[in-house]
Amino acid sequence: MPSADFDMNEIHWLMDMFNTVDVGLVVLDREYRVCVWNGFMENHSGLLPSAVKDKDIFDLFPSIDEKWFRGKTESVFVLKNRSFTIWEQQPYIFRFKNYRPITGKAEHMFQNSTIIPLTTTTGEVGHVCIIIYDVTDEAMNKIELEVANKQLEQLSRTDSLTKLSNRGFWEENLRKEFKRLKRNQGCSALLMFDIDHFKRINDEHGHSGGDMAIRHVADLLRKTLRETDTAGRYGGEEFAVTLIDTDTEGATIFAERLRTLIEKSVIFYDEEKISITVSVGIACFDDSFEKHEQWIEATDIALYYSKEHGRNCVTSYTPELKKAAK
Ligand code: GH3
Ligand code: MG
Ligand code: MG
Repeated sequence: MPSADFDMNEIHWLMDMFNTVDVGLVVLDREYRVCVWNGFMENHSGLLPSAVKDKDIFDLFPSIDEKWFRGKTESVFVLKNRSFTIWEQQPYIFRFKNYRPITGKAEHMFQNSTIIPLTTTTGEVGHVCIIIYDVTDEAMNKIELEVANKQLEQLSRTDSLTKLSNRGFWEENLRKEFKRLKRNQGCSALLMFDIDHFKRINDEHGHSGGDMAIRHVADLLRKTLRETDTAGRYGGEEFAVTLIDTDTEGATIFAERLRTLIEKSVIFYDEEKISITVSVGIACFDDSFEKHEQWIEATDIALYYSKEHGRNCVTSYTPELKKAAK
């Protein structure tokens, strides 16, 4: 084959490859006008090379974050170095629809890109080439994994019956609050309550009736809480609430409101009425506590006092109660 024909063939081959390769290739000049636009770009944008030639890229694609994109590209023109973009930072440069069968859920194509300097024979960089990679599959896998992990984390800290925090997660939060108070002082209150004569509810209405009563109490508790308070299921039919920045007086008002709400509420199971009351213990943070467990212990002593003194009542912890309990 004569050398001139071979060169022509090579150019044809290169053009074929350029138009069929599964990455986007775009050449921009110093004014960000399009000089070259390959088949990938044509197929995904629906714009022919003749329609984009010499047009300003930001006019053609107003969705490009111009400041960010110029920041990435200017360094290529000036420093003659490559620059990269990744989907985690900016999901795409060109907003293209996603047609992939497996990751069809994605609203758009996720893209990584490399921006390379194109030098002239004299070493000037008058143009850059942007190589666009479709990384939708990889991005969707990672996003779905992150969502699944978040759900798992949520599940691992939630009590399945009541959807309140489980004991482990609630206690971890209490430990953090305890540390915060140790550092900064202030007052928060801990409140624990236990359903009265719950064994009777189980005996009279069965375990499912008992479960329903527990859920009902949890729902009333949720309604009473402020956003900053954290509530957890501490044990079978025992609940715990951390009331942030609340003194004994505030905590007592909260506890009384909750106690009367539960007492007055009516629930039916299998057409039978279930009445519920709770006994409550409160203890405010005290700087003499060395560990958060002592705070729980104080609250438990107050709760025990309520149980011993007629139930369906609220008791606030004092050191005298501890002496009496010994
Ligand atoms: P008190 O007024 O002294 O608290 O009496 P009580 O009958 O409530 O006594 P206690 O707290 O010791 O009994 C709790 C019972 O709750 C014992 C257990 O069988 C039952 N229980 C624990 N967890 C669950 C649960 O998830 N569902 C149901 N239905 N019952 C539970
Ligand atoms: Mg009980
Ligand atoms: Mg109990």
